[in-house]
Amino acid sequence: MTDYSVSISVNGRDYLWPKRPTVVVCIDGCERAYIDRAVEAGAMPWTARILSEGSDLPADCVVPCFTNPNNLSIVTGQPPSVHGICGNFFYDPASDTEVMMNDPKLLRAGTILAAFQAAGASICVVTAKDKLRKLLGHGLSFGPDGAVCFSAEKCDQTTLAEHGIEDARAFLDCPVPEVYSADLSEVVFKAGVALLKQKRYDIVYLSTTDYIQHKHAPGDPVANDFYRMMDSYWAELDALGATVVLTADHGMTPMHNPDGTPHVVYLQTILDEMLGENRARVILPITDPYVVHHGALGGFATAYMPEETDLADLCAKLRALDGIEWVGTGAEGCARFELPEDRMGDIIVISAATTAVGSSPERHDLSSLKEPLRSHGGLSTQAVPMILNRKLRGLDAGLQVRNFDAFDLGLNRAIVEG
Ligand code: ZN
Ligand code: ZN
Repeated sequence: MTDYSVSISVNGRDYLWPKRPTVVVCIDGCERAYIDRAVEAGAMPWTARILSEGSDLPADCVVPCFTNPNNLSIVTGQPPSVHGICGNFFYDPASDTEVMMNDPKLLRAGTILAAFQAAGASICVVTAKDKLRKLLGHGLSFGPDGAVCFSAEKCDQTTLAEHGIEDARAFLDCPVPEVYSADLSEVVFKAGVALLKQKRYDIVYLSTTDYIQHKHAPGDPVANDFYRMMDSYWAELDALGATVVLTADHGMTPMHNPDGTPHVVYLQTILDEMLGENRARVILPITDPYVVHHGALGGFATAYMPEETDLADLCAKLRALDGIEWVGTGAEGCARFELPEDRMGDIIVISAATTAVGSSPERHDLSSLKEPLRSHGGLSTQAVPMILNRKLRGLDAGLQVRNFDAFDLGLNRAIVEG
């Protein structure tokens, strides 16, 4: 007999043992309007019902509004100041190197997933891109009766020892999806449903990619079809008896001029003009090996300055520029956005809505940008959905829900009959 009064403590928060399979879905780049437009178009019949019968709360993601920091916040229940992952990479001034942040050794907190597995729960994690898999799977053990954790991108390369499933592609009976495709996310849901049908996992975490959202605005027929696809899988998860929690890692906003060219403030160029060439070093933590759909342009930058710089004066000058929403010292930014100070530069710069912050024009390869730029990173992409197929109890009125409350809501506050 499972004792449902057991609670598991992780990173200072307590989580009740799941009475039903609890599925947390991180919809990459899910600006709320995507759901609203698709519901209006009749493309999301299950979601349309859940919005009234379940729970629908406005939530905020963590800044920078990027994929890795937010996925890690959701699975640790804490902001980046606790778990340490604040972008796709950071600059280490001591070794003068740019360090990719996809290595679990950079993670400073354990995950809710690993803590539940250690207490005897069954865990399943499926991501779209492989870059997140090792971070999300950190601390899980695999093998017979172990966890399952793999990416759609490399579903043909899974082993029981490393991913908890031998040849996931054969199990799913589908081709390996293209990295830049809607199929990559569909395989995530296909796997989630197939695995839950095979075994009543206690906790399932599914994380998609924002390929579609980078290219298509809310209400666009391609976007509506993508949301129709997701809706059908969510309905299946619901029918399997799961508590389904839908949230996002960040929103998505247009960042282009009326003629379709990217609307960019080039920070390295500006700092070069102010201080001399390459005296400052701009870091864009959105940069990763998969830049095709955003050209490494987003809404958030940090920069390292020469030692003698008057940071307060510099911040004031940058604040006065068009297209800039927020500028502060590293310490100010880390305090406000709950970021790890040792992985951020001397200043933090956030561009205004509809504007990207870049390095210098020659450092961005925009040739692969086929559609007008849509991206994320700054405050204008912080609002995300938080939707559950359950009513909730015990929520304080006026509480600002964060996307990293997803497991708290799903495990502690969702009202489950039986
Ligand atoms: Zn993302
Ligand atoms: Zn993105």
